[in-house]
Amino acid sequence: MQKQNKKGILIIGAGGVSAVATMKCAMNLDTFEKITLASRTLSKCENIQKNIKNKINIKINVDQIDADKTNDLIELIKKLNPKVVLNVALPYQDLTIMDACSATGTHYIDTANYEHPDVAKFEYKEQWAKNDDFEKQNLTALLGSGFDPGVTGVFVAYAQQNLFDTIEYIDIMDCNAGDHGYPFATNFNPEINLREVSANGRYWEDGKWIETKPLEIKVDWDYPEIGIKPSYLLYHEELESLSKNIKGLKRIRFFMTFGDAYIQHMNCLQNVGMLGIKEVEHKGQKIVPIEFLSTLLPDPASLGERTVGQTNIGCVIEGIKNGKRKKVYIYQICDHQEAFKETCAQCVSYTTGVPAMIGTKLVYNETWDLKGTRNIEEYEAQPFMDELMAQGLPWKIKEMEIN
Ligand code: NDP
Repeated sequence: MQKQNKKGILIIGAGGVSAVATMKCAMNLDTFEKITLASRTLSKCENIQKNIKNKINIKINVDQIDADKTNDLIELIKKLNPKVVLNVALPYQDLTIMDACSATGTHYIDTANYEHPDVAKFEYKEQWAKNDDFEKQNLTALLGSGFDPGVTGVFVAYAQQNLFDTIEYIDIMDCNAGDHGYPFATNFNPEINLREVSANGRYWEDGKWIETKPLEIKVDWDYPEIGIKPSYLLYHEELESLSKNIKGLKRIRFFMTFGDAYIQHMNCLQNVGMLGIKEVEHKGQKIVPIEFLSTLLPDPASLGERTVGQTNIGCVIEGIKNGKRKKVYIYQICDHQEAFKETCAQCVSYTTGVPAMIGTKLVYNETWDLKGTRNIEEYEAQPFMDELMAQGLPWKIKEMEIN
């Protein structure tokens, strides 16, 4: 049961996504009442605190926490007594933060599913297994409230609830047509990004998972208002929950755009072992190659000012309505410089941070009150779709021809 007199939000993690999510929470202070940002490096929290004070003259609180330590988290949550915790640290911290939330009667929201640092594989199993811890106490753990996962699940839920009797095919199309001017940089945490892209691809068809080699399947896709971009099939975590939650589905896939320079650099780094996740010995010291690479690459939070262009992320959904075949494209276009003007961050942080705030807001104000461990498509989509329009991520729907 959620404890009495709980008030405010605790945000954990102070990177690129957090900079936007925290700013957007501050812009919605009438909902969140009191905001505390805590992360491993206090100075990063203080930078975000200063930026918010300068931009919108709102003072948030800051604290220091190592979110790998459940007991420290419990102590911090007890001290602050927030109603919700928003986890925008790394996927490695999902389980400890979930445990601390259920131990203290606090709702939990995140944007990425759990990944063990030593195994480049992500799945919902361990988070779904915590359902009873939350459900029994009338608490919500909302998993994956970013853009993908996040808004993509909301788009599918909206289509299911308003546009289709049965959805049969879903292609999630993620295009970043932005240019940051560096030969190579990742637009969110380098370690998480490179682990995802260099892994085998996978999609779901007729009840089975089909595995592909990394970036083996490529399509040239025409993104509305952007144009044709080479797009590569990847495994992405919302495929796991959507294939379970959308009844009647025959196939779901995920595609993302990459430029030639990104792929060449990634292949070269992989070939020389720089994407390795196991410790190696170097001059008597132990290092993990991908962690060292992350240290060398530009911090994604610093890309905002220099990134121009747009992102377009959406879902192409085909199925049946009133006995007829139908296909729609629901998508969102975000401009890097517009996002920077508002929050000092580029679109990848913006399109993740805004939905992280929206999901948290809907749990906080109890518009979304399903309890237990939930994926975003299980909720009524309309309130989230309305918030996207109001909070800076307007979306569009296009009718498509059936091939
Ligand atoms: P960053 O690397 O920029 O930020 C991560 C932050 O978490 C840093 O401040 C880091 O602190 C902090 N952190 C790491 N470990 C700990 C710890 N043990 N205790 C406390 N804080 C810790 O990442 P991003 O902002 O780019 O990404 C944040 C999350 O968003 C990731 O989980 C990512 O997968 C997810 N994401 C989701 C997307 C979606 O659409 N759903 C899209 C993009 C990202 P320090 O600086 O001290 O290392």
